[in-house]
Amino acid sequence: MTHERLLDTYAKLAVRTGLNLQPGQQLVITAPLDAVPLVRRVTEHAYRSGASLVTTLYADDESTLARYRLAPDGAFDIAPDWLFNGMAEAFRGGAARLAIAGENPALLAGQDAGKLSRANKARSRAYRPALELITGFAINWCVIAAATPAWAKSVFPRVPEEQAMEQLWQAIFACSKADVADPIATWEQHNADLRRRTEFLNGRRYRALKYKGPGTDLMLGLADEHSWKGGGGKALNGVFCNANIPTEEVFTAPHKDMVDGTVCSSKPLSYQGSLIDGIRVRFERGRIVEMTAEKGQDAFRNLIDTDEGAARLGEVALVPHSSPISKSGIIFNNTLFDENAASHIAVGQSYTENIRDGSKRSKEELAALGANTSLVHVDWMIGSGELDVDGIAADGSAEPLMRKGEWVI
Ligand code: ZN
Ligand code: ZN
Repeated sequence: MTHERLLDTYAKLAVRTGLNLQPGQQLVITAPLDAVPLVRRVTEHAYRSGASLVTTLYADDESTLARYRLAPDGAFDIAPDWLFNGMAEAFRGGAARLAIAGENPALLAGQDAGKLSRANKARSRAYRPALELITGFAINWCVIAAATPAWAKSVFPRVPEEQAMEQLWQAIFACSKADVADPIATWEQHNADLRRRTEFLNGRRYRALKYKGPGTDLMLGLADEHSWKGGGGKALNGVFCNANIPTEEVFTAPHKDMVDGTVCSSKPLSYQGSLIDGIRVRFERGRIVEMTAEKGQDAFRNLIDTDEGAARLGEVALVPHSSPISKSGIIFNNTLFDENAASHIAVGQSYTENIRDGSKRSKEELAALGANTSLVHVDWMIGSGELDVDGIAADGSAEPLMRKGEWVI
């Protein structure tokens, strides 16, 4: 298939399988400026599916850098609240949301750490109303990606830009199953496979997961009444959608106060324009009490200092080491892909859907069950071909779940 055909298939997959956009529904898209060709195709498919209005907000790397270069020093504690309030209002009014990832993973490397931390905090605070509707699964939403020159260069640093772009696009199409004969049917089968896994795990009612691997010795308590999810799911607006393309994970809510031990990252994490690598943290009763990183330590410290919940876990996900994304051998420097190549954990906000009947419970009830609250939600990878994971039953007995990174159930 030509690039043009693949791009069109991918756009259609995002609208049909990713969002499952409904007739009459509005769509809000965020995208990097370099993603214009993909956005146009998504927009066409959205209108063909009956969208009433598609609105795209573009981000431009050069303009972002200009702020750090030229904006007054005192102006890094603000964020466009009006914009995020507007997005939240659109979601409450029934709009769906498509995020197209493709940012330069190291865009803000070398920028003033203080300015970065202040800007990120202000942004997280302003984004809260919209994030709550996303993590609460109020609407159908989806994240996909577009290859951009800066991102492609960071993934394939040794080849010319044009070739790097082509290789990254091929990898995106392959990982997203957009290059198969019938992508939509393939995704239905994939969702059925993930559902079998979540049904098994939900049946076991584990109290905790125990991790052992190089540099990792962790007992991770699960929230009471936790619920494993994976693949597509039904949002509160009644629309069945696939929130991530690709997705290979099954995930649930850790108990925010019951995580103990040490854990090391196994892949770099790209967070708000900084690459963070070689993370090693120690948890005590759910909280990170010690932290080092070989690269980007300041950025990681800023992240976990955002608020109380940013130093605790909001998600735990299991992904086999043999996942197609892992098998590609590519380190994407982008969480949408890297989190689907390895088991991971996320600091920050937990997902309401990961607690049984979560959307019907009050914030206090959710917290009492162990669900975490924060302005941030950031996944980082801890899985590898050397990681063993056990499920710990209520009576304390251990059952092997993964050996050397692969499912044994
Ligand atoms: Zn995840
Ligand atoms: Zn996550």
